[in-house]
Amino acid sequence: MKPLIGITCGTFRDREWCPPIHGHRQTYIDSVVAAGGAPFLFPLVDDQAVVRALYDRLDGVLLAGGCDVDPSYYGEAPMEQLGPVDALRDRVEIWLARWAAEEGKPVLGICRGMQVLNVALGGSLYQDIPTQLTPQYIHDGSYACEDWTHMVHDIRIEPSSKIAKIFDTSSFPINSLHHQSLKAIAPQLKPVGWAPDGVVELVEGSNGHFMVGVQCHPEALQGEADPRWRKLFKHFVEQCHV
Ligand code: MN
Repeated sequence: MKPLIGITCGTFRDREWCPPIHGHRQTYIDSVVAAGGAPFLFPLVDDQAVVRALYDRLDGVLLAGGCDVDPSYYGEAPMEQLGPVDALRDRVEIWLARWAAEEGKPVLGICRGMQVLNVALGGSLYQDIPTQLTPQYIHDGSYACEDWTHMVHDIRIEPSSKIAKIFDTSSFPINSLHHQSLKAIAPQLKPVGWAPDGVVELVEGSNGHFMVGVQCHPEALQGEADPRWRKLFKHFVEQCHV
């Protein structure tokens, strides 16, 4: 039996007048399959009982990338530089993140997913890195050059972290497609990876369960650009017990 991994959907529109589409990029699906999991595209349903019924059937949760998180969840007014938000997606993913953290169901947050995890557990975000920090890098640089595998900056991983054990090196280049980043870190999370300019790029849970957030997009790298990220997906899926 392959562990069932829920990948949270984004909301997309092909035409303005058509109903929205829930889905996500194939790279997330491919990464879960390559790691031995069975991917399930988790729909955005505005009914907690339905979301719970689906969540209960999952062995692990992958909070995927996407738009900005509504800053009201961390008690801030929106800045002018805030990008689009998705109220329904925020609601659904915050339920999932809190349940997974409480119950020890393995959870992997990628980009927005890491930010949702942090906010769901009581942390906050910089709404716009260029406005609020003095970054050394263009953290959405892979976007700017329209290449998901374009490496923008290095990540340095804390050697004593749990996650460091799955990589054979503690510093290597990564892609970067984000304009927001973690500010206050939620009490249940610990920063364990940084860009050279100090932006938090990796967090892990402080309890015994698999709870990892990564700010870059390993799902776009694990295929050919940097196969070492396969180890992260493999480790995640291995922790998801059927
Ligand atoms: Mn970055």
